[in-house]
Amino acid sequence: MHLAILPGDGIGPEICEATLTVLALLNGRFGLGLSWESHDIGFGALARHGTTFPAAAKEAAMAADGIILGPVSHNDYPPKAEGGINPSGDLRLSLDLYANIRPSRSRGGLKFWGRTPMDLVIVRENTEGFYADRSMHMGPGEFMPTPDMALAVRKITVHACERIARSAFELAMGRNRHVTAVHKANVLRVSDGLFLREVRKVATEFPNVAYDEQLVDSMTAMLVRDAARFDVVVTTNMYGDILSDEAAELSGSLGLAGSINAGTGHCMAQAQHGSAPDIAGQDKANPASLILSAALMLDWLGRTHGRETLIRAAAVVEPAIDTLIADPATRTADLGGALGTRAFTEALCLKILA
Ligand code: NAD
Repeated sequence: MHLAILPGDGIGPEICEATLTVLALLNGRFGLGLSWESHDIGFGALARHGTTFPAAAKEAAMAADGIILGPVSHNDYPPKAEGGINPSGDLRLSLDLYANIRPSRSRGGLKFWGRTPMDLVIVRENTEGFYADRSMHMGPGEFMPTPDMALAVRKITVHACERIARSAFELAMGRNRHVTAVHKANVLRVSDGLFLREVRKVATEFPNVAYDEQLVDSMTAMLVRDAARFDVVVTTNMYGDILSDEAAELSGSLGLAGSINAGTGHCMAQAQHGSAPDIAGQDKANPASLILSAALMLDWLGRTHGRETLIRAAAVVEPAIDTLIADPATRTADLGGALGTRAFTEALCLKILA
Protein backbone atom coordinates (compact mmCIF):
# COMPACT_ATOMS: atom_id res chain seq x y z
CA MET A 1 0.00 0.00 0.00
CA HIS A 2 1.44 3.34 -1.03
CA LEU A 3 0.12 6.70 0.15
CA ALA A 4 0.54 10.12 -1.42
CA ILE A 5 0.86 12.91 1.15
CA LEU A 6 -0.13 16.42 0.08
CA PRO A 7 0.54 18.67 3.11
CA GLY A 8 -1.30 21.79 1.85
CA ASP A 9 -1.26 25.31 3.31
CA GLY A 10 -1.46 26.97 6.74
CA ILE A 11 -1.51 24.31 9.47
CA GLY A 12 -1.51 21.56 6.80
CA PRO A 13 2.22 20.66 7.07
CA GLU A 14 2.07 20.50 10.90
CA ILE A 15 -1.00 18.29 11.09
CA CYS A 16 0.27 16.09 8.24
CA GLU A 17 3.53 15.58 10.14
CA ALA A 18 1.52 14.62 13.24
CA THR A 19 -0.60 12.21 11.17
CA LEU A 20 2.50 10.58 9.66
CA THR A 21 4.00 10.15 13.15
CA VAL A 22 0.89 8.17 14.15
CA LEU A 23 0.86 6.23 10.86
CA ALA A 24 4.54 5.30 11.31
CA LEU A 25 3.73 3.94 14.76
CA LEU A 26 0.78 1.89 13.45
CA ASN A 27 2.84 0.72 10.47
CA GLY A 28 5.47 -0.78 12.78
CA ARG A 29 3.09 -2.10 15.41
CA PHE A 30 0.63 -3.81 13.04
CA GLY A 31 3.07 -4.64 10.20
CA LEU A 32 0.91 -2.73 7.72
CA GLY A 33 3.55 -2.49 4.97
CA LEU A 34 2.58 1.12 4.26
CA SER A 35 4.93 3.44 2.38
CA TRP A 36 4.40 7.10 1.55
CA GLU A 37 5.88 10.08 -0.18
CA SER A 38 5.08 13.79 0.22
CA HIS A 39 4.41 16.07 -2.72
CA ASP A 40 4.43 19.83 -2.97
CA ILE A 41 1.03 21.58 -3.37
CA GLY A 42 -0.50 24.92 -2.34
CA PHE A 43 1.20 28.30 -2.06
CA GLY A 44 4.66 26.71 -1.72
CA ALA A 45 4.15 24.92 -5.03
CA LEU A 46 2.77 28.10 -6.61
CA ALA A 47 6.02 29.94 -5.75
CA ARG A 48 8.24 27.07 -6.92
CA HIS A 49 6.30 25.62 -9.86
CA GLY A 50 3.78 28.28 -10.85
CA THR A 51 0.75 26.23 -9.81
CA THR A 52 -0.89 25.22 -6.53
CA PHE A 53 -1.36 21.69 -7.89
CA PRO A 54 1.63 20.56 -10.00
CA ALA A 55 1.06 17.73 -12.49
CA ALA A 56 3.64 15.56 -10.67
CA ALA A 57 1.70 15.81 -7.40
CA LYS A 58 -1.56 14.97 -9.15
CA GLU A 59 -0.05 11.98 -10.97
CA ALA A 60 1.41 10.65 -7.71
CA ALA A 61 -1.93 11.09 -5.93
CA MET A 62 -3.82 9.33 -8.71
CA ALA A 63 -1.40 6.40 -8.72
CA ALA A 64 -1.43 5.94 -4.92
CA ASP A 65 -3.70 3.54 -2.98
CA GLY A 66 -4.62 6.33 -0.58
CA ILE A 67 -4.13 10.07 -0.26
CA ILE A 68 -3.73 12.29 2.78
CA LEU A 69 -4.61 15.84 1.82
CA GLY A 70 -3.86 18.64 4.29
CA PRO A 71 -6.17 21.65 4.30
CA VAL A 72 -5.61 24.15 1.49
CA SER A 73 -6.13 27.95 1.52
CA HIS A 74 -8.05 27.76 -1.75
CA ASN A 75 -10.13 30.81 -0.93
CA ASP A 76 -6.96 32.87 -1.35
CA TYR A 77 -5.66 31.13 -4.48
CA PRO A 78 -5.33 33.22 -7.66
CA PRO A 79 -7.57 32.40 -10.65
CA LYS A 80 -6.87 29.17 -12.54
CA ALA A 81 -5.16 31.08 -15.36
CA GLU A 82 -2.59 32.27 -12.81
CA GLY A 83 -1.96 28.81 -11.34
CA GLY A 84 -4.66 28.60 -8.68
CA ILE A 85 -6.10 25.07 -8.72
CA ASN A 86 -7.98 23.64 -5.74
CA PRO A 87 -6.37 20.17 -5.28
CA SER A 88 -9.34 19.06 -3.18
CA GLY A 89 -12.00 19.69 -5.83
CA ASP A 90 -9.69 18.53 -8.62
CA LEU A 91 -8.97 15.15 -6.98
CA ARG A 92 -12.58 14.57 -5.96
CA LEU A 93 -13.54 14.91 -9.63
CA SER A 94 -10.52 13.28 -11.28
CA LEU A 95 -10.68 10.19 -9.06
CA ASP A 96 -14.49 10.21 -8.93
CA LEU A 97 -14.43 10.34 -5.11
CA TYR A 98 -18.19 10.59 -4.97
CA ALA A 99 -18.85 9.81 -1.30
CA ASN A 100 -17.76 12.25 1.38
CA ILE A 101 -18.20 10.39 4.66
CA ARG A 102 -18.30 12.68 7.71
CA PRO A 103 -19.00 11.15 11.13
CA SER A 104 -19.88 13.27 14.16
CA ARG A 105 -19.93 11.68 17.61
CA SER A 106 -20.13 13.16 21.11
CA ARG A 107 -17.11 12.22 23.20
CA GLY A 108 -16.96 11.45 26.91
CA GLY A 109 -15.78 14.36 29.05
CA LEU A 110 -16.10 16.90 26.23
CA LYS A 111 -19.01 19.31 26.33
CA PHE A 112 -21.49 18.65 23.55
CA TRP A 113 -24.68 20.38 22.54
CA GLY A 114 -28.04 18.74 23.20
CA ARG A 115 -29.62 16.48 25.80
CA THR A 116 -28.28 13.11 24.68
CA PRO A 117 -24.98 12.19 23.01
CA MET A 118 -25.06 12.04 19.24
CA ASP A 119 -23.49 9.52 16.86
CA LEU A 120 -24.29 10.16 13.23
CA VAL A 121 -22.62 10.07 9.82
CA ILE A 122 -23.30 12.54 7.06
CA VAL A 123 -22.94 10.97 3.62
CA ARG A 124 -22.48 13.85 1.23
CA GLU A 125 -22.49 13.63 -2.57
CA ASN A 126 -19.12 15.00 -3.69
CA THR A 127 -18.97 15.28 -7.46
CA GLU A 128 -21.77 17.61 -8.54
CA GLY A 129 -24.38 19.93 -6.95
CA PHE A 130 -23.81 23.66 -6.66
CA TYR A 131 -20.01 23.51 -6.84
CA ALA A 132 -18.88 25.65 -9.75
CA ASP A 133 -15.82 23.46 -10.38
CA ARG A 134 -17.93 20.31 -10.56
CA SER A 135 -21.12 21.17 -12.40
CA MET A 136 -19.97 21.69 -16.01
CA HIS A 137 -18.17 19.64 -18.65
CA MET A 138 -16.39 22.77 -19.87
CA GLY A 139 -16.05 26.12 -18.15
CA PRO A 140 -17.12 27.05 -14.63
CA GLY A 141 -20.64 26.60 -13.33
CA GLU A 142 -20.90 30.27 -12.36
CA PHE A 143 -21.07 33.08 -14.86
CA MET A 144 -22.16 36.72 -15.34
CA PRO A 145 -24.30 37.32 -18.42
CA THR A 146 -24.40 41.05 -17.54
CA PRO A 147 -22.35 43.07 -15.01
CA ASP A 148 -25.32 43.18 -12.63
CA MET A 149 -26.36 39.54 -12.80
CA ALA A 150 -24.65 36.32 -11.64
CA LEU A 151 -25.92 32.80 -12.34
CA ALA A 152 -24.89 29.45 -10.87
CA VAL A 153 -25.66 26.03 -12.33
CA ARG A 154 -26.47 23.12 -10.02
CA LYS A 155 -26.06 19.65 -11.47
CA ILE A 156 -28.00 16.67 -10.09
CA THR A 157 -27.85 13.33 -11.92
CA VAL A 158 -29.57 9.98 -11.48
CA HIS A 159 -26.20 8.21 -11.46
CA ALA A 160 -24.73 10.34 -8.62
CA CYS A 161 -27.92 10.23 -6.52
CA GLU A 162 -28.28 6.48 -6.90
CA ARG A 163 -24.72 5.67 -5.87
CA ILE A 164 -24.59 8.09 -2.92
CA ALA A 165 -27.89 6.64 -1.68
CA ARG A 166 -26.44 3.13 -1.96
CA SER A 167 -23.36 4.21 0.04
CA ALA A 168 -25.64 5.57 2.77
CA PHE A 169 -27.82 2.45 3.02
CA GLU A 170 -24.83 0.10 2.98
CA LEU A 171 -23.22 2.15 5.77
CA ALA A 172 -26.48 2.12 7.76
CA MET A 173 -26.60 -1.70 7.57
CA GLY A 174 -23.48 -1.79 9.75
CA ARG A 175 -24.81 0.86 12.14
CA ASN A 176 -28.28 1.56 13.53
CA ARG A 177 -30.15 0.90 10.25
CA HIS A 178 -31.70 4.31 9.84
CA VAL A 179 -31.23 6.65 6.84
CA THR A 180 -32.52 10.21 6.63
CA ALA A 181 -32.49 11.95 3.23
CA VAL A 182 -32.11 15.73 3.49
CA HIS A 183 -33.47 17.86 0.65
CA LYS A 184 -35.33 21.02 -0.37
CA ALA A 185 -37.73 19.43 -2.84
CA ASN A 186 -40.53 21.77 -1.77
CA VAL A 187 -38.70 24.54 -3.67
CA LEU A 188 -36.18 22.75 -5.90
CA ARG A 189 -38.89 20.41 -7.12
CA VAL A 190 -37.06 19.16 -10.19
CA SER A 191 -33.46 18.73 -8.98
CA ASP A 192 -34.08 17.76 -5.35
CA GLY A 193 -37.15 15.89 -6.57
CA LEU A 194 -34.86 13.73 -8.71
CA PHE A 195 -32.51 13.20 -5.75
CA LEU A 196 -35.42 12.01 -3.58
CA ARG A 197 -36.82 9.78 -6.30
CA GLU A 198 -33.49 7.94 -6.59
CA VAL A 199 -32.96 7.64 -2.82
CA ARG A 200 -36.49 6.23 -2.41
CA LYS A 201 -35.77 3.63 -5.12
CA VAL A 202 -32.61 2.48 -3.33
CA ALA A 203 -34.49 2.47 0.00
CA THR A 204 -36.81 -0.27 -1.34
CA GLU A 205 -33.76 -2.55 -1.70
CA PHE A 206 -33.03 -2.19 2.04
CA PRO A 207 -36.26 -3.17 3.82
CA ASN A 208 -34.36 -3.61 7.11
CA VAL A 209 -33.27 0.02 7.15
CA ALA A 210 -35.73 2.64 8.46
CA TYR A 211 -36.01 5.52 6.01
CA ASP A 212 -37.29 9.07 6.47
CA GLU A 213 -36.84 12.49 4.91
CA GLN A 214 -36.18 15.98 6.27
CA LEU A 215 -36.19 19.42 4.67
CA VAL A 216 -32.74 20.99 4.92
CA ASP A 217 -33.90 24.11 6.76
CA SER A 218 -35.71 22.14 9.45
CA MET A 219 -32.75 19.73 9.57
CA THR A 220 -30.51 22.55 10.85
CA ALA A 221 -32.96 23.01 13.75
CA MET A 222 -33.41 19.26 14.33
CA LEU A 223 -29.66 18.84 14.68
CA VAL A 224 -29.54 21.53 17.38
CA ARG A 225 -32.63 20.18 19.14
CA ASP A 226 -31.98 16.44 19.02
CA ALA A 227 -29.07 15.24 16.87
CA ALA A 228 -29.16 11.90 18.71
CA ARG A 229 -32.21 10.82 16.67
CA PHE A 230 -30.15 10.58 13.44
CA ASP A 231 -27.95 7.70 12.29
CA VAL A 232 -26.95 8.09 8.61
CA VAL A 233 -27.87 11.29 6.80
CA VAL A 234 -27.63 11.31 3.00
CA THR A 235 -27.70 14.55 1.08
CA THR A 236 -26.42 16.54 -1.89
CA ASN A 237 -23.09 18.36 -1.96
CA MET A 238 -23.68 21.81 -0.48
CA TYR A 239 -26.28 20.81 2.15
CA GLY A 240 -23.87 18.08 3.27
CA ASP A 241 -20.96 20.50 3.48
CA ILE A 242 -22.88 22.88 5.73
CA LEU A 243 -24.72 20.29 7.85
CA SER A 244 -21.53 18.31 8.53
CA ASP A 245 -19.77 21.37 9.96
CA GLU A 246 -22.84 22.06 12.11
CA ALA A 247 -22.98 18.45 13.31
CA ALA A 248 -19.25 18.38 14.08
CA GLU A 249 -19.44 21.56 16.12
CA LEU A 250 -22.53 20.31 18.00
CA SER A 251 -20.71 17.08 18.82
CA GLY A 252 -17.91 19.01 20.52
CA SER A 253 -15.61 20.60 17.93
CA LEU A 254 -14.95 20.92 14.23
CA GLY A 255 -11.33 20.14 15.17
CA LEU A 256 -12.32 16.53 15.90
CA ALA A 257 -14.20 15.83 12.71
CA GLY A 258 -12.64 13.14 10.54
CA SER A 259 -13.63 12.84 6.91
CA ILE A 260 -12.87 10.70 3.85
CA ASN A 261 -13.65 11.11 0.19
CA ALA A 262 -14.16 7.68 -1.33
CA GLY A 263 -14.84 6.29 -4.79
CA THR A 264 -14.79 2.73 -6.06
CA GLY A 265 -10.99 2.41 -6.17
CA HIS A 266 -9.56 5.40 -4.32
CA CYS A 267 -9.83 7.07 -0.95
CA MET A 268 -8.61 10.45 0.25
CA ALA A 269 -8.36 11.44 3.93
CA GLN A 270 -9.01 15.12 4.52
CA ALA A 271 -9.71 17.07 7.70
CA GLN A 272 -13.09 18.77 7.80
CA HIS A 273 -11.68 22.13 8.89
CA GLY A 274 -9.69 24.63 6.79
CA SER A 275 -6.04 25.72 6.78
CA ALA A 276 -6.37 27.96 9.89
CA PRO A 277 -3.79 30.56 8.71
CA ASP A 278 -4.27 32.47 11.99
CA ILE A 279 -2.45 29.74 13.96
CA ALA A 280 -0.17 28.31 11.25
CA GLY A 281 3.40 27.46 12.26
CA GLN A 282 2.74 28.01 15.99
CA ASP A 283 2.38 24.39 17.16
CA LYS A 284 -1.21 25.22 18.20
CA ALA A 285 -3.25 23.19 15.70
CA ASN A 286 -5.29 20.22 16.82
CA PRO A 287 -4.20 17.35 14.53
CA ALA A 288 -7.08 15.04 15.62
CA SER A 289 -9.33 15.73 12.62
CA LEU A 290 -6.67 14.69 10.09
CA ILE A 291 -5.48 11.76 12.23
CA LEU A 292 -9.08 10.50 12.54
CA SER A 293 -9.50 11.00 8.77
CA ALA A 294 -6.38 8.90 8.15
CA ALA A 295 -7.82 6.19 10.44
CA LEU A 296 -11.08 6.25 8.44
CA MET A 297 -8.99 5.83 5.28
CA LEU A 298 -7.07 2.86 6.74
CA ASP A 299 -10.41 1.26 7.61
CA TRP A 300 -11.70 1.91 4.06
CA LEU A 301 -8.50 0.48 2.52
CA GLY A 302 -8.75 -2.56 4.80
CA ARG A 303 -12.35 -3.28 3.83
CA THR A 304 -11.82 -2.58 0.13
CA HIS A 305 -8.68 -4.71 -0.18
CA GLY A 306 -9.63 -7.38 2.39
CA ARG A 307 -6.74 -6.45 4.72
CA GLU A 308 -7.79 -7.18 8.31
CA THR A 309 -4.64 -5.62 9.85
CA LEU A 310 -5.52 -2.21 8.37
CA ILE A 311 -8.98 -2.43 9.96
CA ARG A 312 -7.48 -3.40 13.33
CA ALA A 313 -4.89 -0.60 13.15
CA ALA A 314 -7.58 1.96 12.30
CA ALA A 315 -9.70 0.83 15.24
CA VAL A 316 -7.13 1.76 17.91
CA VAL A 317 -6.91 5.43 16.93
CA GLU A 318 -10.32 6.80 17.92
CA PRO A 319 -10.46 5.25 21.43
CA ALA A 320 -6.96 6.63 22.11
CA ILE A 321 -8.03 10.12 21.00
CA ASP A 322 -11.21 9.82 23.10
CA THR A 323 -9.15 8.98 26.19
CA LEU A 324 -6.87 11.97 25.65
CA ILE A 325 -9.61 14.52 25.12
CA ALA A 326 -11.67 13.19 28.02
CA ASP A 327 -8.98 14.74 30.25
CA PRO A 328 -8.63 18.56 30.02
CA ALA A 329 -4.89 18.16 30.76
CA THR A 330 -4.30 16.32 27.49
CA ARG A 331 -6.29 18.55 25.15
CA THR A 332 -5.10 21.08 22.58
CA ALA A 333 -5.86 24.80 22.94
CA ASP A 334 -9.01 24.76 20.73
CA LEU A 335 -10.56 22.39 23.32
CA GLY A 336 -9.38 24.46 26.28
CA GLY A 337 -6.20 22.45 26.90
CA ALA A 338 -2.54 23.38 27.02
CA LEU A 339 -0.95 20.83 24.67
CA GLY A 340 0.59 21.90 21.40
CA THR A 341 0.37 19.86 18.18
CA ARG A 342 3.59 17.93 18.87
CA ALA A 343 2.88 17.27 22.55
CA PHE A 344 -0.64 16.02 21.72
CA THR A 345 0.80 13.73 19.03
CA GLU A 346 3.38 12.34 21.45
CA ALA A 347 0.69 11.74 24.07
CA LEU A 348 -1.46 10.01 21.44
CA CYS A 349 1.40 7.71 20.40
CA LEU A 350 2.00 6.76 24.06
CA LYS A 351 -1.72 6.06 24.48
CA ILE A 352 -1.76 3.84 21.37
CA LEU A 353 1.27 1.93 22.69
CA ALA A 354 -0.21 1.52 26.20
P1 NAD B 1 -10.71 27.31 9.17
O1 NAD B 1 -11.37 26.01 9.43
O2 NAD B 1 -9.35 27.25 8.54
O3 NAD B 1 -10.57 28.14 10.54
C1 NAD B 1 -11.69 28.53 11.30
C2 NAD B 1 -11.24 28.72 12.77
O4 NAD B 1 -11.02 27.43 13.35
C3 NAD B 1 -9.93 29.49 12.92
O5 NAD B 1 -9.97 30.28 14.07
C4 NAD B 1 -8.88 28.39 13.09
O6 NAD B 1 -7.75 28.79 13.85
C5 NAD B 1 -9.67 27.31 13.82
N1 NAD B 1 -9.19 25.97 13.45
C6 NAD B 1 -9.42 25.31 12.29
N2 NAD B 1 -8.82 24.11 12.31
C7 NAD B 1 -8.20 24.01 13.52
C8 NAD B 1 -7.41 23.00 14.14
N3 NAD B 1 -7.13 21.83 13.53
N4 NAD B 1 -6.93 23.22 15.38
C9 NAD B 1 -7.22 24.36 16.03
N5 NAD B 1 -7.97 25.36 15.50
C10 NAD B 1 -8.45 25.19 14.25
O7 NAD B 1 -11.71 28.16 8.26
P2 NAD B 1 -11.49 29.52 7.49
O8 NAD B 1 -10.67 30.45 8.31
O9 NAD B 1 -12.85 29.91 7.06
O10 NAD B 1 -10.68 29.13 6.17
C11 NAD B 1 -9.26 29.30 6.01
C12 NAD B 1 -8.87 28.75 4.65
O11 NAD B 1 -9.11 27.34 4.62
C13 NAD B 1 -9.62 29.37 3.47
O12 NAD B 1 -8.71 29.61 2.42
C14 NAD B 1 -10.62 28.29 3.09
O13 NAD B 1 -10.95 28.34 1.73
C15 NAD B 1 -9.82 27.05 3.40
N6 NAD B 1 -10.63 25.82 3.66
C16 NAD B 1 -10.08 24.67 3.23
C17 NAD B 1 -10.73 23.49 3.47
C18 NAD B 1 -10.07 22.22 3.00
O14 NAD B 1 -8.95 22.24 2.53
N7 NAD B 1 -10.72 21.09 3.14
C19 NAD B 1 -11.95 23.46 4.15
C20 NAD B 1 -12.48 24.68 4.62
C21 NAD B 1 -11.81 25.85 4.37
